[in-house]
Amino acid sequence: GRKFFVGGNWKCNGTSEEVKKIVSTLNAAEVPSQDVVEVVVSPPFVFLPLVKSTLRSDFHVAAQNCWVKKGGAYTGEVSAEMLVNLDIPWVILGHSERRALLGESNEFVGDKVAYALAQGLKVIACIGETLEQREAGSTVDVVAAQTKAIAAKISDWTNVVLAYEPVWAIGTGRSPLLLRLRKKWLETNVSPQVAASTRIIYGGSVNGGNCKELAGQPDVDGFLVGGASLKPEFIDIIKSAE
Ligand code: 13P
Repeated sequence: GRKFFVGGNWKCNGTSEEVKKIVSTLNAAEVPSQDVVEVVVSPPFVFLPLVKSTLRSDFHVAAQNCWVKKGGAYTGEVSAEMLVNLDIPWVILGHSERRALLGESNEFVGDKVAYALAQGLKVIACIGETLEQREAGSTVDVVAAQTKAIAAKISDWTNVVLAYEPVWAIGTGRSPLLLRLRKKWLETNVSPQVAASTRIIYGGSVNGGNCKELAGQPDVDGFLVGGASLKPEFIDIIKSAE
């Protein structure tokens, strides 16, 4: 079976004091066991060592990005090898903010996913259309192209969690349907085995109030949480796995 996955994407937030506070809140929380839910939090790079060394051992950490190939003369970048060197098990790649604000193309994200996996990292690969694309009626094409660019570069999906973040869909009750469509895409374009075993998680305004209903849907394998992952309600979201 696919274990429920709850990722907390802290984005570009936090001071060291705030980070310590979030970690101590998480460490004190009573949550379902690791057999029930996999919890991964993703602080900014600079806080990764602090979080890794102080966070409870049943929770794991993810970087929010890494470079597309081996390190070298790439000022400002962090390589997959560096993450492996620091024992950071996970990385988020292709987040919609990086696609939209930093110009990451589908091909670039596909290359990043392949390179990170080859170095031994586990990858939260993000896909999703913008509201403009949705309104233009190009959702299916956009998301298929994003997924295809990843599928073209990898063959083993074991260490991939696919995060679908159609932000506009929250509260419409349509997100489970959309996740099912992603699963169908994998079934047709990759393989039924990969579709059955790969977790597809939902992202976009998940909070303590809506998590339980969303988690109860058969095609929701977990969440990628932004804003609410910085708050105590993240614990309620983790508990929604049960
Ligand atoms: P919010 O949960 O703040 O909507 O962010 C979603 C997201 O982008 C998670 O990666």
